[in-house]
Amino acid sequence: MLAARMYGINDVRVEDVPIPKPSAGELLVKVKSAAICGTDVRMIKNGAKGIDENHPLVLGHEFSGIIEELGEGVTGYKVGQRVAIAPNMGCGICDTCVAGNGHLCPDYRAFGISLDGGFAEYCLITSDAVRSGNVCVLDDAVSFDSGAINEPLSCVCNGFEHADIHPGDKVLVVGAGPIGIMHCALALMAGAVVYLNDLSAERLSDAKKLYPKINTIEGDLKTELLKETNGYGADAIITACPVPQVQSLAVELAALGGRVIMFGGIPADKTPVGINTNLIHYKQLIISGTTRASLIQYRKTLNYISSGVLDVESLVSKRFKIADFNEAVELATKAVGLKNVIVF
Ligand SMILES: [Zn+2]
Ligand SMILES: [Zn+2]
Repeated sequence: MLAARMYGINDVRVEDVPIPKPSAGELLVKVKSAAICGTDVRMIKNGAKGIDENHPLVLGHEFSGIIEELGEGVTGYKVGQRVAIAPNMGCGICDTCVAGNGHLCPDYRAFGISLDGGFAEYCLITSDAVRSGNVCVLDDAVSFDSGAINEPLSCVCNGFEHADIHPGDKVLVVGAGPIGIMHCALALMAGAVVYLNDLSAERLSDAKKLYPKINTIEGDLKTELLKETNGYGADAIITACPVPQVQSLAVELAALGGRVIMFGGIPADKTPVGINTNLIHYKQLIISGTTRASLIQYRKTLNYISSGVLDVESLVSKRFKIADFNEAVELATKAVGLKNVIVF
Protein backbone atom coordinates (compact mmCIF):
# COMPACT_ATOMS: atom_id res chain seq x y z
CA MET A 1 0.00 0.00 0.00
CA LEU A 2 1.05 3.62 -0.43
CA ALA A 3 1.73 5.51 2.78
CA ALA A 4 3.06 9.02 3.48
CA ARG A 5 5.65 8.41 6.17
CA MET A 6 7.44 11.19 8.02
CA TYR A 7 11.15 10.54 8.71
CA GLY A 8 12.12 13.94 10.10
CA ILE A 9 11.90 17.67 9.50
CA ASN A 10 10.52 18.39 6.00
CA ASP A 11 11.02 14.73 5.13
CA VAL A 12 7.82 12.90 4.23
CA ARG A 13 8.17 10.04 1.77
CA VAL A 14 5.31 8.40 -0.08
CA GLU A 15 6.36 4.76 -0.02
CA ASP A 16 5.06 1.32 -0.85
CA VAL A 17 4.81 -0.59 2.44
CA PRO A 18 3.10 -3.86 3.43
CA ILE A 19 -0.59 -3.69 4.38
CA PRO A 20 -0.81 -4.27 8.15
CA LYS A 21 -2.50 -7.49 9.30
CA PRO A 22 -4.92 -7.09 12.22
CA SER A 23 -4.09 -9.27 15.22
CA ALA A 24 -6.65 -10.37 17.79
CA GLY A 25 -8.82 -7.45 18.89
CA GLU A 26 -7.59 -5.15 16.12
CA LEU A 27 -9.22 -4.07 12.91
CA LEU A 28 -8.04 -2.80 9.55
CA VAL A 29 -9.59 0.29 7.94
CA LYS A 30 -9.33 1.03 4.23
CA VAL A 31 -8.87 4.80 4.36
CA LYS A 32 -11.17 6.83 2.10
CA SER A 33 -10.46 10.40 3.24
CA ALA A 34 -7.77 12.00 5.41
CA ALA A 35 -7.59 15.76 6.00
CA ILE A 36 -4.43 17.79 6.47
CA CYS A 37 -4.35 19.90 9.61
CA GLY A 38 -2.14 22.65 11.04
CA THR A 39 -0.79 20.06 13.48
CA ASP A 40 0.52 17.95 10.56
CA VAL A 41 2.17 21.03 9.08
CA ARG A 42 3.79 21.90 12.43
CA MET A 43 5.04 18.32 12.89
CA ILE A 44 6.54 18.28 9.39
CA LYS A 45 8.14 21.74 9.66
CA ASN A 46 9.40 21.48 13.27
CA GLY A 47 9.91 17.74 13.69
CA ALA A 48 8.05 15.60 16.21
CA LYS A 49 8.93 13.55 19.25
CA GLY A 50 9.75 9.92 18.47
CA ILE A 51 9.91 10.39 14.68
CA ASP A 52 13.30 10.00 12.98
CA GLU A 53 15.10 8.15 10.19
CA ASN A 54 14.74 4.86 12.09
CA HIS A 55 11.23 5.50 13.39
CA PRO A 56 9.07 6.83 10.54
CA LEU A 57 5.41 7.52 11.22
CA VAL A 58 2.34 7.75 9.00
CA LEU A 59 0.79 11.09 9.92
CA GLY A 60 -2.93 11.87 9.65
CA HIS A 61 -5.27 12.09 12.64
CA GLU A 62 -8.38 13.28 10.76
CA PHE A 63 -9.62 10.32 8.72
CA SER A 64 -12.43 7.98 7.76
CA GLY A 65 -12.79 4.81 5.75
CA ILE A 66 -14.32 1.35 5.45
CA ILE A 67 -13.67 -1.63 7.73
CA GLU A 68 -11.64 -4.03 5.59
CA GLU A 69 -10.84 -6.82 8.04
CA LEU A 70 -11.57 -7.75 11.63
CA GLY A 71 -8.99 -9.35 13.89
CA GLU A 72 -9.93 -12.42 15.91
CA GLY A 73 -12.51 -11.79 18.59
CA VAL A 74 -13.63 -8.32 17.49
CA THR A 75 -17.34 -7.89 18.14
CA GLY A 76 -19.68 -4.99 17.47
CA TYR A 77 -18.26 -4.19 14.03
CA LYS A 78 -18.69 -5.67 10.54
CA VAL A 79 -16.52 -5.72 7.44
CA GLY A 80 -17.77 -3.08 4.99
CA GLN A 81 -18.98 -0.60 7.61
CA ARG A 82 -18.24 3.06 6.90
CA VAL A 83 -16.40 4.53 9.88
CA ALA A 84 -14.53 7.57 11.17
CA ILE A 85 -11.75 7.14 13.69
CA ALA A 86 -11.45 9.30 16.79
CA PRO A 87 -7.65 9.54 17.05
CA ASN A 88 -7.07 10.14 20.77
CA MET A 89 -6.61 7.39 23.31
CA GLY A 90 -5.80 7.44 26.97
CA CYS A 91 -4.50 4.59 29.14
CA GLY A 92 -8.10 3.69 30.00
CA ILE A 93 -7.49 3.18 33.71
CA CYS A 94 -6.50 6.55 35.24
CA ASP A 95 -9.15 8.83 36.79
CA THR A 96 -8.97 11.20 33.81
CA CYS A 97 -9.74 8.36 31.40
CA VAL A 98 -12.47 6.91 33.59
CA ALA A 99 -14.05 10.39 33.65
CA GLY A 100 -14.26 10.24 29.85
CA ASN A 101 -11.31 12.52 29.19
CA GLY A 102 -8.86 10.11 27.60
CA HIS A 103 -7.69 12.98 25.36
CA LEU A 104 -6.14 14.59 28.46
CA CYS A 105 -4.57 11.41 29.87
CA PRO A 106 -0.85 11.76 30.71
CA ASP A 107 -0.25 8.55 28.74
CA TYR A 108 -2.21 9.86 25.77
CA ARG A 109 -1.53 8.36 22.34
CA ALA A 110 -3.08 9.19 19.01
CA PHE A 111 -3.26 7.92 15.45
CA GLY A 112 -1.16 10.15 13.23
CA ILE A 113 0.70 11.58 16.25
CA SER A 114 2.25 8.57 17.98
CA LEU A 115 0.69 5.65 16.05
CA ASP A 116 0.49 5.23 12.27
CA GLY A 117 -2.44 7.33 11.05
CA GLY A 118 -4.60 8.01 8.04
CA PHE A 119 -2.26 9.19 5.27
CA ALA A 120 -2.03 5.64 3.91
CA GLU A 121 -4.29 3.32 1.98
CA TYR A 122 -4.92 1.26 5.10
CA CYS A 123 -4.72 2.01 8.83
CA LEU A 124 -4.44 -0.58 11.58
CA ILE A 125 -6.72 0.25 14.51
CA THR A 126 -5.21 -1.03 17.74
CA SER A 127 -7.19 -3.21 20.13
CA ASP A 128 -7.38 -0.55 22.84
CA ALA A 129 -8.88 1.89 20.30
CA VAL A 130 -11.38 -0.74 19.17
CA ARG A 131 -12.37 -1.51 22.78
CA SER A 132 -12.62 2.17 23.74
CA GLY A 133 -15.09 2.94 20.95
CA ASN A 134 -12.77 5.12 18.85
CA VAL A 135 -14.19 3.47 15.72
CA CYS A 136 -17.40 5.39 15.02
CA VAL A 137 -19.88 4.10 12.45
CA LEU A 138 -20.92 6.74 9.92
CA ASP A 139 -24.53 7.40 9.10
CA ASP A 140 -25.28 7.18 5.35
CA ALA A 141 -25.76 10.96 5.33
CA VAL A 142 -22.16 11.60 6.39
CA SER A 143 -19.60 11.64 3.56
CA PHE A 144 -16.09 10.29 4.10
CA ASP A 145 -14.69 13.83 3.84
CA SER A 146 -17.11 15.08 6.49
CA GLY A 147 -16.21 12.07 8.64
CA ALA A 148 -12.55 13.10 8.41
CA ILE A 149 -13.25 16.77 9.16
CA ASN A 150 -15.37 15.74 12.12
CA GLU A 151 -12.13 15.44 14.10
CA PRO A 152 -11.25 19.16 14.15
CA LEU A 153 -14.97 19.89 14.48
CA SER A 154 -15.04 17.85 17.69
CA CYS A 155 -12.11 19.88 19.07
CA VAL A 156 -13.95 23.07 18.16
CA CYS A 157 -17.03 21.68 19.94
CA ASN A 158 -14.93 21.27 23.08
CA GLY A 159 -14.15 25.01 22.98
CA PHE A 160 -17.75 25.82 22.06
CA GLU A 161 -19.07 23.96 25.11
CA HIS A 162 -16.73 25.92 27.39
CA ALA A 163 -17.89 29.21 25.83
CA ASP A 164 -21.45 28.59 27.10
CA ILE A 165 -23.05 30.39 24.14
CA HIS A 166 -26.75 31.28 24.31
CA PRO A 167 -29.17 32.59 21.66
CA GLY A 168 -28.60 36.28 21.04
CA ASP A 169 -25.08 36.29 22.52
CA LYS A 170 -22.55 38.35 20.67
CA VAL A 171 -19.63 36.08 19.84
CA LEU A 172 -16.26 37.17 18.48
CA VAL A 173 -14.00 34.65 16.76
CA VAL A 174 -10.47 35.76 15.88
CA GLY A 175 -8.84 33.72 13.11
CA ALA A 176 -10.64 32.82 9.88
CA GLY A 177 -8.95 29.50 9.18
CA PRO A 178 -10.99 26.29 9.12
CA ILE A 179 -11.00 26.18 12.92
CA GLY A 180 -12.27 29.75 13.29
CA ILE A 181 -14.94 29.14 10.66
CA MET A 182 -16.12 26.00 12.46
CA HIS A 183 -16.33 28.04 15.69
CA CYS A 184 -18.54 30.51 13.82
CA ALA A 185 -20.70 27.67 12.50
CA LEU A 186 -21.31 26.24 15.98
CA ALA A 187 -22.02 29.69 17.46
CA LEU A 188 -24.50 30.41 14.65
CA MET A 189 -26.11 27.03 15.30
CA ALA A 190 -26.56 28.13 18.93
CA GLY A 191 -28.34 31.31 17.82
CA ALA A 192 -25.51 33.79 18.43
CA VAL A 193 -24.66 36.96 16.54
CA VAL A 194 -21.21 36.12 15.19
CA TYR A 195 -18.29 38.43 14.40
CA LEU A 196 -15.19 37.11 12.69
CA ASN A 197 -11.85 38.92 12.48
CA ASP A 198 -8.69 38.06 10.58
CA LEU A 199 -5.76 39.95 9.09
CA SER A 200 -6.56 38.43 5.70
CA ALA A 201 -9.48 40.10 3.90
CA GLU A 202 -9.50 37.15 1.50
CA ARG A 203 -10.02 34.63 4.29
CA LEU A 204 -12.83 36.76 5.72
CA SER A 205 -14.63 36.94 2.41
CA ASP A 206 -14.22 33.18 1.92
CA ALA A 207 -15.77 32.61 5.35
CA LYS A 208 -18.65 34.94 4.54
CA LYS A 209 -19.28 33.00 1.32
CA LEU A 210 -19.62 29.77 3.32
CA TYR A 211 -21.68 31.28 6.14
CA PRO A 212 -23.35 34.52 4.98
CA LYS A 213 -24.65 35.18 8.51
CA ILE A 214 -21.10 35.84 9.75
CA ASN A 215 -20.35 39.53 10.35
CA THR A 216 -16.75 40.08 9.27
CA ILE A 217 -14.63 42.70 11.00
CA GLU A 218 -11.86 44.34 9.02
CA GLY A 219 -9.79 47.27 10.20
CA ASP A 220 -9.09 47.95 13.88
CA LEU A 221 -10.69 45.11 15.83
CA LYS A 222 -11.23 47.01 19.09
CA THR A 223 -12.82 50.06 17.44
CA GLU A 224 -15.04 48.01 15.16
CA LEU A 225 -16.22 45.48 17.75
CA LEU A 226 -17.08 48.16 20.31
CA LYS A 227 -18.99 50.03 17.60
CA GLU A 228 -20.93 46.85 16.73
CA THR A 229 -21.75 46.08 20.37
CA ASN A 230 -22.64 49.60 21.58
CA GLY A 231 -19.46 49.70 23.62
CA TYR A 232 -20.25 46.53 25.62
CA GLY A 233 -17.91 44.05 23.94
CA ALA A 234 -18.58 40.40 23.18
CA ASP A 235 -20.29 37.86 25.45
CA ALA A 236 -17.95 35.14 24.24
CA ILE A 237 -14.59 35.45 22.51
CA ILE A 238 -12.69 32.59 20.93
CA THR A 239 -9.07 33.04 19.91
CA ALA A 240 -8.48 30.69 16.99
CA CYS A 241 -4.99 31.91 16.10
CA PRO A 242 -1.50 31.56 17.63
CA VAL A 243 -1.06 35.28 18.39
CA PRO A 244 -0.24 36.43 21.97
CA GLN A 245 -1.58 39.99 21.41
CA VAL A 246 -4.95 38.54 20.43
CA GLN A 247 -5.20 36.73 23.78
CA SER A 248 -4.45 39.97 25.68
CA LEU A 249 -6.92 41.93 23.55
CA ALA A 250 -9.64 39.29 23.94
CA VAL A 251 -9.75 39.98 27.68
CA GLU A 252 -10.17 43.71 26.91
CA LEU A 253 -12.94 43.07 24.40
CA ALA A 254 -15.05 40.80 26.59
CA ALA A 255 -18.35 42.17 27.93
CA LEU A 256 -19.29 42.01 31.63
CA GLY A 257 -19.59 38.34 32.57
CA GLY A 258 -17.98 37.37 29.28
CA ARG A 259 -16.25 34.10 28.47
CA VAL A 260 -12.88 34.02 26.75
CA ILE A 261 -11.66 30.75 25.24
CA MET A 262 -7.99 30.47 24.35
CA PHE A 263 -8.46 27.86 21.64
CA GLY A 264 -5.31 28.27 19.58
CA GLY A 265 -2.04 27.49 21.35
CA ILE A 266 0.83 30.00 21.43
CA PRO A 267 4.37 29.02 20.31
CA ALA A 268 6.36 28.23 23.47
CA ASP A 269 8.90 31.01 22.81
CA LYS A 270 6.10 33.59 22.89
CA THR A 271 4.76 32.64 26.33
CA PRO A 272 3.88 33.78 28.93
CA VAL A 273 1.34 36.25 27.57
CA GLY A 274 0.64 39.48 29.46
CA ILE A 275 -3.00 39.83 30.48
CA ASN A 276 -4.57 42.62 32.55
CA THR A 277 -6.04 40.48 35.33
CA ASN A 278 -7.98 43.46 36.71
CA LEU A 279 -10.21 43.13 33.67
CA ILE A 280 -10.99 39.55 34.69
CA HIS A 281 -11.72 40.76 38.23
CA TYR A 282 -13.88 43.81 37.51
CA LYS A 283 -15.74 42.30 34.56
CA GLN A 284 -16.19 38.90 36.25
CA LEU A 285 -14.84 37.14 33.21
CA ILE A 286 -14.43 33.42 32.78
CA ILE A 287 -11.21 32.58 30.97
CA SER A 288 -10.74 29.05 29.72
CA GLY A 289 -8.91 27.05 27.12
CA THR A 290 -9.49 23.70 25.49
CA THR A 291 -7.37 21.17 23.67
CA ARG A 292 -8.36 18.14 21.59
CA ALA A 293 -11.79 16.53 22.20
CA SER A 294 -13.30 13.73 24.21
CA LEU A 295 -14.74 10.67 22.50
CA ILE A 296 -18.29 11.70 23.33
CA GLN A 297 -17.69 15.12 21.79
CA TYR A 298 -16.42 13.36 18.65
CA ARG A 299 -19.65 11.35 18.48
CA LYS A 300 -21.79 14.38 19.28
CA THR A 301 -20.41 16.38 16.34
CA LEU A 302 -20.87 13.38 14.02
CA ASN A 303 -24.53 13.61 14.99
CA TYR A 304 -24.57 17.33 14.18
CA ILE A 305 -23.35 16.46 10.68
CA SER A 306 -25.63 13.46 10.12
CA SER A 307 -28.72 15.33 11.32
CA GLY A 308 -27.96 18.14 8.89
CA VAL A 309 -27.67 20.95 11.44
CA LEU A 310 -24.05 21.51 10.48
CA ASP A 311 -22.16 21.20 7.20
CA VAL A 312 -18.39 20.75 7.07
CA GLU A 313 -18.09 19.27 3.59
CA SER A 314 -17.99 22.81 2.15
CA LEU A 315 -14.70 23.41 4.00
CA VAL A 316 -12.91 21.05 1.60
CA SER A 317 -11.06 23.28 -0.83
CA LYS A 318 -8.98 20.72 -2.68
CA ARG A 319 -8.68 16.94 -2.93
CA PHE A 320 -5.36 15.17 -3.61
CA LYS A 321 -4.12 11.64 -4.25
CA ILE A 322 -1.67 10.22 -1.71
CA ALA A 323 1.11 10.35 -4.33
CA ASP A 324 0.75 14.16 -4.27
CA PHE A 325 0.88 14.37 -0.47
CA ASN A 326 3.80 16.81 -0.31
CA GLU A 327 2.08 19.16 -2.76
CA ALA A 328 -1.00 19.16 -0.52
CA VAL A 329 1.17 19.95 2.52
CA GLU A 330 2.76 22.86 0.66
CA LEU A 331 -0.67 24.40 0.07
CA ALA A 332 -1.64 23.84 3.71
CA THR A 333 1.64 25.44 4.81
CA LYS A 334 0.91 28.55 2.76
CA ALA A 335 -2.64 28.55 4.19
CA VAL A 336 -4.04 28.23 0.67
CA GLY A 337 -7.63 26.99 0.90
CA LEU A 338 -9.34 25.74 4.03
CA LYS A 339 -9.17 21.97 4.19
CA ASN A 340 -6.86 20.05 1.87
CA VAL A 341 -7.92 16.42 1.85
CA ILE A 342 -6.23 13.24 0.66
CA VAL A 343 -8.79 10.93 -0.91
CA PHE A 344 -8.40 7.26 -1.78
ZN1 LIG B 1 -6.10 18.25 13.37
ZN1 LIG C 1 -5.44 7.61 31.39
